[in-house]
This record gives sequence, structure tokens and C-alpha cells, in this order.
Amino acid sequence: MALILFLAMSLALSFTGPAFCATLDVYVIDVEGGNATLFVFPSHESLLIDTGNAGAAAPRDAGRIMEAVKAAGLQQIDHLVITHWHGDHFGGLAELAAKVPIREFIDHGPNVQPGELADTFLRTTYPQLYASAKHTVAKPGDRISIAGADVRVVASAGQVIKTPLPGAGMPNPFCVNFKPGDNNAEDPQSVGVHITFGKFRTIHLGDLTRNKEFELMCPDNRIGTVDVLLGLHHGQASSNSEVLVYALHPRVAIMNNGTRKGGEPDVMKTVHSSPGLEDLWQLHFSVLSGQEYTVPGMFIANTTDDQQPGMPIAPTPAPAPGPGAPPPPAHNGPAYWIKLSAQQDGSFTVANARNGFSKTYAPKR
Ligand SMILES: [Zn+2]
Ligand SMILES: [Zn+2]
Repeated sequence: MALILFLAMSLALSFTGPAFCATLDVYVIDVEGGNATLFVFPSHESLLIDTGNAGAAAPRDAGRIMEAVKAAGLQQIDHLVITHWHGDHFGGLAELAAKVPIREFIDHGPNVQPGELADTFLRTTYPQLYASAKHTVAKPGDRISIAGADVRVVASAGQVIKTPLPGAGMPNPFCVNFKPGDNNAEDPQSVGVHITFGKFRTIHLGDLTRNKEFELMCPDNRIGTVDVLLGLHHGQASSNSEVLVYALHPRVAIMNNGTRKGGEPDVMKTVHSSPGLEDLWQLHFSVLSGQEYTVPGMFIANTTDDQQPGMPIAPTPAPAPGPGAPPPPAHNGPAYWIKLSAQQDGSFTVANARNGFSKTYAPKR
């Protein structure tokens, strides 16, 4: 009887396909300076943070997310976090929900930055999407239930956790040099998620801004250190203060920037001077970096449709925002993700789907 059971189980396991493995896999998907980050756990459960851009870009971005969903062998998204109500984060949601079932919708609550796009979406579309699923308004300290990992909300709706994560809570020496900064009403509302998988730790804070980073990390560091820092608010200077980046002490950072969004010189300086940083990976070349600040191309997943023969050494200043601003370099053709695969022992591999380059980071001593 035991032998039959064993044989039946091995047979069942052998049919679960390529996604059955012992790693936590993270697909950092190119949505052109928006966000879409897909986590696939060994239990086969999935967490997607954000769904890319709105408007004409929504079908493109939903399609790019679906490529990762298929590569991971998923039939559904178990948990979706929309970090905040900006079009580069919830934009592709309706298009994505038409392609794959989403079982739980997690957000910070109502939009606090009045605007036609988000307000119309929240009034007319969103309630229909979660009508046959679960809808959760996240509070700091909440757990997202996923077998074999601790997935914790550390920020939501402008509030941050008050109690340090296990092992964290030491005074943060970088708080004395903090320079405050904020930009708009919704970014500081971002849902931030911290994930512990064995000895591996990672964090994605949406577009959480500097002032909230300070509340989360000062005077005591309530997060501790992480192996990989994800997102970085596209590499924009309204986030990424030293109180966050330095104190998290990431070995690797993966930036969700666009062709002319993020990768800003001030952020590149902070990340590259962060103690213990081994590598920064970028979803895109950014003209805001120039060669002066960019990482080598092997660490960059995407270029542009119309590739330029050379990148200027000096960073290109961002044009004044408004209707007269020229469009950023376009990238609507084939897009590539950066894939992170983490092991329980804390080791992990980062791979660039564009050029096949990958690098394995051994467990910390
Ligand atoms: Zn792109
Ligand atoms: Zn954003």
C-alpha cells in the first residue's frame, strides 16, 4: 500500500511541470517604467505586485505579464497587490484579469489623489473585477498567506509597521543625515511587501517616498537587511534615501526603470555607494543615466526599438514635464524580464533574459 502511494505521489509530482522546484522565482517584468513583479513560490502559489501601464499600453503590458505567467506554468494569480492608484501600477489590470483568473485583490484602500483615470477605474471597473474574488485592504503587519514563506505587509495607506520584523530593530546610523522629500499624494500610500524565504529576504515598497522611508527605518531599522532590493520606485530621487538603501544593505538591487524614467544620477550614486552592494540590475537603459551613471549593458534587460549607435557619456536632463515634452524613446517590441531565483539557504541567481547573462550569489557567511 505504501509503495503504491509512493508511486502515485511520484507520478503526480512528475506531472506538475517545470514550475515545480525548490526556488522562489521572481520575474521583474518590463512595463516601461511602470511596475509588474511576479513571485512564484515552490508551493506553486503566486503573488503579482502591480500590472503595468494604462491606456494604449495596457494590452502590451498585460501581454508581457502573461508571458511570465505562462513561463512559470501558472493557471491563476493567487494574490495581486496593487501598490497604489497610479496608472503605471494598476493600468493593465482589467486587460490582465481578462486573461488569467485573479483570486485575491490587495490594495491600500481609496485613491487619495483625485484624477479621472484612477477614480473612474475604482468606481466602475475595479468592483467588477473583484466581485467573484477576495478583496483585501492591507494594513501594516498583515500577512499574505503563502505556504513555505513569510510574506508581510510593512507599509500601506501611509502607515508603516510599528514593531520590527524578527531579528530587526537596531538603531539606524543613517537617520542623522536624512533629507526629507515627497512628490504627490499616492506614492506615499504604497503597499510595501517584505518576503522571507528560508534565509533569503527581499522587499518591494512600490513607490514609497523618502518621508515614509524615514518613518519605516528611523530611529530604528524595523526591516533589518535584505538580500535583494526590488523596484526602487523606478530609480527616482523622490525615493531611495540612504536611510532606506544603506540600512537595508542589499547585495543586489533590481530597478524597474524606463527608457527615460528613473535611473537618475542621484539614485545611482546612492545605490552604488550602498555598503555591501554587489550589483545593480536594470530593466532598461535610461537616458537619464548616460554612461556616467549606467551599469554595464550585461546587467540591463531592455534597450529601445530604435537602437542608437552610442549612449552619450553625460546624462540627458529630463525635459520639462507637460504637453510640449518630447516622447521618451519607445520600446514596444520584444521585451525581456530579469529573473531572480532564490534558494532556502539564502543563495540566489539573477538572469537577464535578453542576453542570457546570469550570476549566482553564494549564501552569506
Ligand atoms: Zn522596455
Ligand atoms: Zn510608479
